[in-house]
Amino acid sequence: MIFDATPPDPLPLVLDEAPDESLSSWLIRHAQFYGIAPSTFSRRVGIDMLTLARIDRRLTAGAARALAIAMRRSRTEIASMTHQQHEDRLAPMIARGKAAQTCVECQLRHRSDKRVTVVLKSWSQGWRIACPVCGSRLQEVDGGEVRPPSDAFEHVWDEARNGEELLTNIEHLAADRAAFVVALLHLLLLHRSPTRSDAPRQIARGRVLDVVVPGFDDFDRRARFTINGTTPLVVPLTIRIALLAGLSRTQNDPDFYKRMENACSGKESIRFDAVKIKLLADAHPTFSYLQQIRDSSPFWSRHFQQRRSKTAPVSPYRTV
Ligand SMILES: [Zn+2]
Repeated sequence: MIFDATPPDPLPLVLDEAPDESLSSWLIRHAQFYGIAPSTFSRRVGIDMLTLARIDRRLTAGAARALAIAMRRSRTEIASMTHQQHEDRLAPMIARGKAAQTCVECQLRHRSDKRVTVVLKSWSQGWRIACPVCGSRLQEVDGGEVRPPSDAFEHVWDEARNGEELLTNIEHLAADRAAFVVALLHLLLLHRSPTRSDAPRQIARGRVLDVVVPGFDDFDRRARFTINGTTPLVVPLTIRIALLAGLSRTQNDPDFYKRMENACSGKESIRFDAVKIKLLADAHPTFSYLQQIRDSSPFWSRHFQQRRSKTAPVSPYRTV
C-alpha cells in the first residue's frame, strides 16, 4: 500500500453515501465528481489501486485510517460500508467482481438523485432475495441484462424470506449454530443418489435440496445451474429462493436432516459425510470443542451418536 507517513488531507467536499452503498462505489463516485481517474483519486485519499479494487472485501487498518481522515467519516462508518462484518461466516456467499443482482426500484431512485453509478452492498450478497433498503424483490443481473427470477418457487417465498433473515443475522448466532447453518447450505446443494422416480421426471443428477423442497430438480433440469468454486453459495435468484426456503425448513423440522442424509448412498453418502465433517471441523479446529458442541446440540448429537462409527475414520480433519 502506498501510504505516506503523512496522512491525507480531508477532501474539500464529501458526497453523501446512499443507504447500503458499498465503499468502492462511494469512492469511485468521488473520482467521477472531481473529474479524475480512480488511480489518481486513490493516491489523493491515501490508498493504492489494488487496495481500492478489493476494498469491499478486505479493508486494512491503514486504509480505514487514511479514508476516515480523507473522507471525513469515522473508521467504523468506513468499515460498515464493506462486507467485513459478514466476511468471517458468509465469505462463500459474497460475489466477487460485478454485482450478481440489483434492485430496480433503488436504481430508479439513484437515477433521479443524479447518482446513477451507485452500487449497493446487498447486490453482491448471495443470501439476499429482497432489497434491505426498500423491500423490493431483487432481480438477476446477467451480462448487463436485468430480469426477475422465475416464479417457480413462489409458493415458498415466505419461508425463503425466513432463511434470508437467518443468514442476515448470522453473526448474532452462537458459533456452533452458525457453523451448522452454513454447513446445511452446502449439504443442500450436493448431488443426491438417483431414485426410481428420476427417470420418468427426466432427472439426470438430482440435488439434496429436492428432498426438502420437492420439485426443485424439475426446475433445475430445465435451467441447470453450475456451482462456482470460489463462491459456491452465490446461486441464481430462482435457485436461491428454493435454497433459502430449504434452509428455513431444516431449521424448523430437524427430521428433514435425516431425509437429506438418506437421499445419499454410496459415493454421494461419502461426499455428504466428508463435506459435513470438513465444514464443522473448519469452524471448530479443535476436536474437543467439536465434541462439546456436538453433545450440547440435540439436533446434531442425535445424528452423531447414531453414526459415531462412521465419523471415526475421518478423524484427520479434526486433528489439524
Ligand atoms: Zn431497493
